[in-house]
Amino acid sequence: MHDEIRYDAIIIGAGAAGASCALWLARLGFSPLLVEAGTQIGGLCLVHPFPDDWNVSLPGHTGPQVAHNFAVSLDRAKVPVLLSTPVESVQKDPDGFVVMTAGGQKLSGRYVVLATGTRARGLDANPNSSGSREAPYPGVLVGPGDHVVAQDFKGLEVAVLGGGDNGFENALYALDHGAKAVTIYARTVRAQRQFVNRMPAEHIVLGDYEVDPQARRVNGRAYDLLMVFHGWEPCVNFATDLALQRSERGYIQTDISTAETSCEGVYAVGEVAQRFHPCVVTAMADGVTAAKAIQARIEAGQSSVA
Ligand SMILES: Cc1cc2nc3c(=O)[nH]c(=O)nc-3n(C[C@H](O)[C@H](O)[C@H](O)COP(=O)(O)OP(=O)(O)OC[C@H]3O[C@@H](n4cnc5c(N)ncnc54)[C@H](O)[C@@H]3O)c2cc1C
Repeated sequence: MHDEIRYDAIIIGAGAAGASCALWLARLGFSPLLVEAGTQIGGLCLVHPFPDDWNVSLPGHTGPQVAHNFAVSLDRAKVPVLLSTPVESVQKDPDGFVVMTAGGQKLSGRYVVLATGTRARGLDANPNSSGSREAPYPGVLVGPGDHVVAQDFKGLEVAVLGGGDNGFENALYALDHGAKAVTIYARTVRAQRQFVNRMPAEHIVLGDYEVDPQARRVNGRAYDLLMVFHGWEPCVNFATDLALQRSERGYIQTDISTAETSCEGVYAVGEVAQRFHPCVVTAMADGVTAAKAIQARIEAGQSSVA
C-alpha cells in the first residue's frame, strides 16, 4: 500500500524527542507524520512509575502522566500519528525519503527524523532481538521501570547483574521491598557513591561472571530472580540503508546545532543520538532543534524558488 501524501517530515518514534519535534513542526505550519512502533505515545516515559522531580515545569508528574500530556498536545496540534507501526527501513529517493513499515506501508517525507530511543540490553546476544523487556526468560527482569515496581520481592534471593547506577539503585529497591538477600555481580562498580555506600560490601561480587538465565544461576549459584542492568543500546537497526555515522557505542552522530546526521536531510534526536544528558527535557529540546532546522531548510528552499 502506498500512502500518497508526501509529508514535510516523517518522525520515527513517539517518545519525548519525537513528540516534541512533531508538535513544533505542526505548530510552525508544516506537515509532520509521527510513526510509533508501540501502542501508545510516550516511549520510555510509559515505564517510569515514579514522580519525576527533575522536570521544572511538571513537578511530581509520573512518566505515564507526562506521556499522556504528549498525547494531548499532539492531538490539539492535530499531528497525525500512526501507532503500532514499527518502521523497518528508510531509504533516500529523489523527492526525499521513503519509510517502509512492518505492515508494508510506504510513507514519503521530504525529511526524516529518527527519534527511536534506546532499549535496555538483555542477556540475549542476538543483536537483532527486539530487546529485552519482553524478556525471553521467566524470572529475569531486564532494565529499570514499572516491571521492577510490580515485582513482589518478599522472601526472594535476588541476583543483580551490573555495577552502574541502575544496578545499585534497583538492588537497594529490592532490599527495601522485602528481598531475603540481594547480590550484585559487576565487572566494575560505576555507580554513584550514595548508592554504593548503602550496599554492604559482602553483597557485591566483583569480576567476570557466568549467567545461565534459564536456570537463573550466576557463577553456578541459583537465585529466585535475576535483574539485568547491562546498560542501553540505541534502536537503529532499521536505518542501516542510510549508512549513518555512529559513535563507538552505536549512537547516531549529529551536528549539535541542527541535529542533522551524516546523511543530508536525516535528523536524529533524543537518546538515539545521546547528544546531552538523557532525560525527558533534553530529548524534548533536541526535538525542537530538529524542527527549527527543518523549518529553516524548507523556508530557505521556498525563498530561493520565489
Ligand atoms: C525507569 C526510568 C526512569 C526514568 N526517569 C526519568 C526521570 O525521572 N526524568 C527524566 O527526565 N527522564 C527519566 N528517564 C529517561 C527518559 O524517560 C528518557 O530519557 C526519554 O524518555 C527519552 O526519550 P526519547 O524520545 O529519546 O526515547 P524513547 O522515550 O525511548 O522513545 C523512543 C520511541 O521510539 C519508538 N521506536 C523504536 N524503534 C522504532 C521503530 N523501528 N519504528 C517506530 N517506532 C520505534 C519506541 O517504541 C519509543 O516509543 C527515565 C527512564 C527510565 C527507563
